[in-house]
Amino acid sequence: MNEFARKIISWQLRCGRHGLPWQDTRDPYRIWLSEIMLQQTQVTAVIPYFERFLERFPDIAALAQAEESDVMQMWAGLGYYARARNLHRAAKQIVADHQGRFPEEFDAIHGLPGIGRSTAAAIAAFAFSQRRAILDGNVKRVFARHFAVGGDVKSKAVETALWQLAEQQLPASGIEPYTQGLMDLGATVCRRSQPSCLLCPVKTTCVAFKGGRIDELPGKAARRVIPHRETRMLIVVCRDEVMLERRPPTGIWGGLWSLPEMPVEQAIDECLFQRYQLKARSMRDLPRVDHGFTHYTLTIFPVVIEVEFAGFRAMEPGAAWVGMADAHRSGVPAPVKRILAALASAGNDLQAIKC
Ligand code: SF4
Repeated sequence: MNEFARKIISWQLRCGRHGLPWQDTRDPYRIWLSEIMLQQTQVTAVIPYFERFLERFPDIAALAQAEESDVMQMWAGLGYYARARNLHRAAKQIVADHQGRFPEEFDAIHGLPGIGRSTAAAIAAFAFSQRRAILDGNVKRVFARHFAVGGDVKSKAVETALWQLAEQQLPASGIEPYTQGLMDLGATVCRRSQPSCLLCPVKTTCVAFKGGRIDELPGKAARRVIPHRETRMLIVVCRDEVMLERRPPTGIWGGLWSLPEMPVEQAIDECLFQRYQLKARSMRDLPRVDHGFTHYTLTIFPVVIEVEFAGFRAMEPGAAWVGMADAHRSGVPAPVKRILAALASAGNDLQAIKC
């Protein structure tokens, strides 16, 4: 076995992460779910979602039969919602094409919606002991530093070089602790900033560490300007209920419940009447909420509006009145949850809302 892999395995067994809810199992469903949830998301944030999701959808058949809105609700707050939609589509595909059994063959795993090459390799390694190379963002950083692979890590050429290295380092045996060890090293030791090199099992062979090149590796592309958008969110309150709307199935927060939105430049009264035939009794701006997505940043201007109760309330399709105390527990995106939680804590005193 090569020296790099031997050290990673022995370090993982002694110092790596153990006892996580998706470890010590060969169940590909649990492993798949954990790999998808862990993309772009920290272990501590994933654990409660993972457990709740499994309670609601204990196996592939249960997930395949579920309504997409139920799946989205269980994912609400975890972000990157395309992951949940793909998971659901993949479960249906497994039922349709693989008689409900998670496929063992690598190409079939890789062919499922939302499963890229590295995720397929991790599932193949953990569930079926297949000798496959992973290369997620953290692992790219480890390889780029240890083997001093310069250049923009997102470029095709660098990515190809890193995949080659990843394949070359694969151990003949012990694929599970090796794969887990690479993930653990990237997440806990070889961090993006201030890596703990003195604790690293491969520091004696790491070119970046020995040559003082940690800050320059992995190489980055020229900084791109992230676009910025603004929206107004309407917290329409009537008696002790607040209006929620279901978002369209695709796009940001697709399929989740959220607050009604309108362009910041449009008059609120006009929008309220045209869309819902409602009249405002009082209106108050709340402090802005900033939220970052990978491809743009969003500034939300929330405004709480108490409307007159006219005996009936006209609704657009996909809108609902929900109890103010519970609205934040609906499947809503994280920044909306924050606003609705502030509304719930203020009780009947709309002047007291702080978000
Ligand atoms: Fe990363 Fe430092 Fe280990 Fe090199 S020595 S792989 S830079 S943690």
